[in-house]
Amino acid sequence: MSKLSFDIDAVIQAKARLTQQQAMELYHQASLHDLGDWANQVALRKHPEDYRTFVIDRNINYTNVCTARCTFCAFRRDPNDPDSYVLDHAAIRAKIQELVDINGTQILMQGGMNADLPITYYEDLLRYIKAQFPTVHIHAFSPPEFVEFERFFSMDVREIIRRFKAAGLDTIPGGGGEIFAPRVRRRIGIGKCSGDDWLRVMRVAHEEGMNTSATMLIGHIEFVRERIEHMAAIRDMQDYAQALRGQSDPVLSGADSAGVIAAIKARRPGIFAASAPPALNGPIAAGFYTAFIHWPFQRENTPLGRAKEWDPAVHGPFDDSTHEDIVRGRVVRMAGGDEYLRMLAIARLFFDNITNLQSSWVTMGPKIGQIALHFGANDMGSVMMEENVVSAAGTTYKLSDREICRLIRDSGWIPVQRDQYYHVLRRHEGADSPDLVQLTDPPVRKVRQLDKQFIGAAPGLETEEQRVKAHLPTILGNE
Ligand code: SF4
Repeated sequence: MSKLSFDIDAVIQAKARLTQQQAMELYHQASLHDLGDWANQVALRKHPEDYRTFVIDRNINYTNVCTARCTFCAFRRDPNDPDSYVLDHAAIRAKIQELVDINGTQILMQGGMNADLPITYYEDLLRYIKAQFPTVHIHAFSPPEFVEFERFFSMDVREIIRRFKAAGLDTIPGGGGEIFAPRVRRRIGIGKCSGDDWLRVMRVAHEEGMNTSATMLIGHIEFVRERIEHMAAIRDMQDYAQALRGQSDPVLSGADSAGVIAAIKARRPGIFAASAPPALNGPIAAGFYTAFIHWPFQRENTPLGRAKEWDPAVHGPFDDSTHEDIVRGRVVRMAGGDEYLRMLAIARLFFDNITNLQSSWVTMGPKIGQIALHFGANDMGSVMMEENVVSAAGTTYKLSDREICRLIRDSGWIPVQRDQYYHVLRRHEGADSPDLVQLTDPPVRKVRQLDKQFIGAAPGLETEEQRVKAHLPTILGNE
């Protein structure tokens, strides 16, 4: 058992809040097994239900033209590039129809930050989608896009959010969070908004009654301390959102709602420097962060991916290094499965005020994605019909609802399709569940016997007869 300088049980039982210093101690001192155990206890307390969730949605990238030049991005194009595009209504309609045809319920729609598109493009698009698909949830436009919209339209983000909400926008995704530390952002998010501005957009969205999500990109040039500071800013602003609703928890946040609002305004002036908050005469129906999601940087095809990999023998320790190549972001420290799970567990222990943590199987793959359900995650995220941005940087994982259901069920829970508000839409318990239905035309996969040990049933090898075949040295084709 890892030795700590503080009472981890009090944190697990929500009797004490994990400090940033304690989070650092967990990172450096706790074993991965202990972290998983503690995070799992918190996840079971927050989610005692007999199911774990997923959503069926579709990413729609309405344009790939972008004013920013993030060094981790392989997706962006300049306006004159031959493969730059802006999707028209018909193309977007066809994509959403495909989503609806497979019981999908929401779209995640983001750019490119395209200076040529007027505000009417967005308002018309939102109205068009809502008219065509009234029940489809529109989760769209990340904070960096809103900050650019302020510049493009000469308008405060509050006015833009009000207009978009009136046109049909439901919630705002947490894209572009990366790492808030200016040292990191200056180097990897060239042309993208500051961390304070990212948090300001979400503050305004919450003040306007709109829910959002929060994200973090790890495994590039950031120090662990900067990850924890990033998470602390999100936790503070979730405290602020809860205080607006009159729902502060004095045990965790240290004050009543009025005290929390005053303390956070004083502690984080940059987030309140523009877009003045509303005058309050009591609680308001503020929105909040519904989920936190982190994932590791994918390097293929990206400018940042060409940076040297950290070598301790050459560069010395990475965290808080004074080595010029590390400080200037010329060296990357990639994150693998261990690092991803370690941060997931710490996030579950740290975010006492965020209900949902998503598993990032799109970047981590199905197996780590499944293990994440035992390291603090309660949600498998999305069955994605289409993903362009991460896949442009080399990630190729794709799962169907059948596969996601199977991963959840094999972990000991009932798979449940949810909506964006984490309401249950479908419990998959019966024989007609996507993962339990016998396929009439099962996919054929080459399966090879290793050391006479059964290596696991591939999708479509559910029957005994098929499993027996899978024990043969080589089946279904030549290696
Ligand atoms: S990550 Fe987004 S904001 Fe950054 S360059 Fe790519 S498309 Fe633009």
